[in-house]
Amino acid sequence: MVVSGPAYLWTRTASGEAVRSFADAFEAVREQLVLEAGANPLFAAHLEMLEDPMLRDAVEAGLASGKSDREALDAACKEICAMFAEVDDEYLRARADDVRDVFRRLDEAVCGGPETSAQDIPDGAVLVAQELLPSDTVKIDFSRIAGILCSKGSTTSHVCIIAHSKGIPIQLGVDISGISEGDTVSVDDPLACPSQVARLARLAGLKVYVNAGSIQDIHRAIATGADGIGLFRTEFLFMERQSLPSKEEQLALYKEALKACKGKPLTLRLLDAGADKPLPYMPVSQEDNPFLGLRGVRFLLRNPEILKTQLEAASEAAGDFPGQLRIMVPMVCTVEELRKVKEALGPVPEGLLQLGIMVETPSAVLMARELAAECDFFSAGTNDLTQYVMAADRGNASVSDLYDPMSEPVRRALALAVEAAHQAGIPIGICGETASDAKATEALIGLSFDSLSLSRL
Ligand code: PEP
Ligand code: MG
Repeated sequence: MVVSGPAYLWTRTASGEAVRSFADAFEAVREQLVLEAGANPLFAAHLEMLEDPMLRDAVEAGLASGKSDREALDAACKEICAMFAEVDDEYLRARADDVRDVFRRLDEAVCGGPETSAQDIPDGAVLVAQELLPSDTVKIDFSRIAGILCSKGSTTSHVCIIAHSKGIPIQLGVDISGISEGDTVSVDDPLACPSQVARLARLAGLKVYVNAGSIQDIHRAIATGADGIGLFRTEFLFMERQSLPSKEEQLALYKEALKACKGKPLTLRLLDAGADKPLPYMPVSQEDNPFLGLRGVRFLLRNPEILKTQLEAASEAAGDFPGQLRIMVPMVCTVEELRKVKEALGPVPEGLLQLGIMVETPSAVLMARELAAECDFFSAGTNDLTQYVMAADRGNASVSDLYDPMSEPVRRALALAVEAAHQAGIPIGICGETASDAKATEALIGLSFDSLSLSRL
């Protein structure tokens, strides 16, 4: 996610002159922290740090050796932070921020204290700081700022965790020396996104794609930082009209879609007509069970001209954007179906595009090993997979208790598909609605999916 805004410099102008002894400053800070600890457990931890005899001993040793109050504080802070720096655990290492925060309060209390005013931050500003410690972050109104640039800090530092929990992008390790108040600055933070699901998935190393049904959806997804499009539902092009789109119309749309992806992958799902998505101008004979009828790849293989035209348009569009297009076949049940689609596609120059399948039928799960050996990627379609595994119509409210994409049977089906994909060395994502469900995110990460494709970021 990249945002821009006018810079607001968060500065500290320490006066340098001691106005209080360390002993008085210690008491003053203790009083502040006792007040703040009640409202914020973080400051209860800071109070404990302050009252730890190690801190007092380190400062008093410095004073006894002839150092000034400020020099003794500085030396003690460095000594204790050095101990944290040696800890293996990254989270504990980042707690050195808390130590420095306590020492900074002491330093400010000794010197009469500088003040940076959080009230003056203009709406939509990018906060620019050397470092933001926990006591700074409680003063900041995150709903008003666009982003943060910091010279110091790690991804597990307090300010980073708070910013990400509020969906605010933060960039660390930035040289801020040349930035002046009001300059337009940008913050580039791939971990920041408004959605909690996307944030968690990215932290766990998964790619975050978005599902799209139109070119506008693609523009929005890429602008908000999606890693690509995990499901481009081409049936909307076919359904919102009175006749089949020509190859030229499709070619123009697919090129536009690839261009809108700006170099990121576009997963173009072949027409998934039938069942809940009938084509008005291609009536199929009455079916008693349309979800078990002529839909997805079955419909395409029964209408080879439609399949051929779509594949030609897609692969021709890929010519201008090599390596970016992933063609995805819906409702595959058998290896023969996949082979027939490959036959219709014909030979593809190395690296031009990838061909994968949706894993959304129990049959595809049970044949996952054989299917994975013959395609480039899997994407789990849990909307359909759930209804077929549980024998519960996805649109029937009276069986909605059974329609649970995170139920044990569906999870086991997903685990089989992931195992087969990874054994064959191909990636597997998930593009059903459950990918966007925050309650399912941990389970999906635990199942070792490589990507989630969300309904929106
Ligand atoms: C699915 O089945 O999970 C899916 C993404 O496809 P659709 O909802 O379009 O059938
Ligand atoms: Mg489906």
